[in-house]
Amino acid sequence: MGFRSVGKSSLTIQFVDGQFVDSYDPTIENTFSKHIKIGGQEYELKLVDTAGQDEYDIFPSQYSVDIHGYVLVYSIASSKSFDVVQVIYDKLLDMTGKVSVPIILVGNKNDLEMQRVVPSQEGRKLADSWKVPFVEASAKENMSALRVFQSIIQEIEKAEGNGPPA
Ligand code: GDP
Ligand code: MG
Repeated sequence: MGFRSVGKSSLTIQFVDGQFVDSYDPTIENTFSKHIKIGGQEYELKLVDTAGQDEYDIFPSQYSVDIHGYVLVYSIASSKSFDVVQVIYDKLLDMTGKVSVPIILVGNKNDLEMQRVVPSQEGRKLADSWKVPFVEASAKENMSALRVFQSIIQEIEKAEGNGPPA
């Protein structure tokens, strides 16, 4: 989840297909499946790539049912998207009613260092206040997208009382 144009779809497609798509329809919501093995453990992931939210959106109730974890994304080149991710977080907790729902915070587009307006420390500080993992990423890099989804899987495993995948 996250503001429009932060790279939600690009990160998803980089992870699922291993490619950077430059022109993905910004308005559509899609679900993707991905089989992944981390350590000895196999996962069949179902990813919902949302159309995006702004600060005025009501949190859609379908996003609180049957969802194991949330990847909240902003762009390091957009302070607006950093504001929006905080609003989404508050609404998310209101909606799910759980304080420990697995969440990670992602500062995407970190290849755009010249356009950076959100310092790494700000992202880190926000994630610390939520007590969730923080990653900066670039949807242009496959390893980067992989780290994002590995991180949320680890959080989900922790929440379910399992050790982190080896
Ligand atoms: P979404 O609306 O959050 O799904 O954003 P998209 O994935 O559609 O990306 C919006 C625009 O940002 C597109 O032009 C992407 O090519 C571009 N973009 C997405 N991720 C990155 C990134 O990590 N680095 C750079 N340089 N551009 C990105
Ligand atoms: Mg999109």
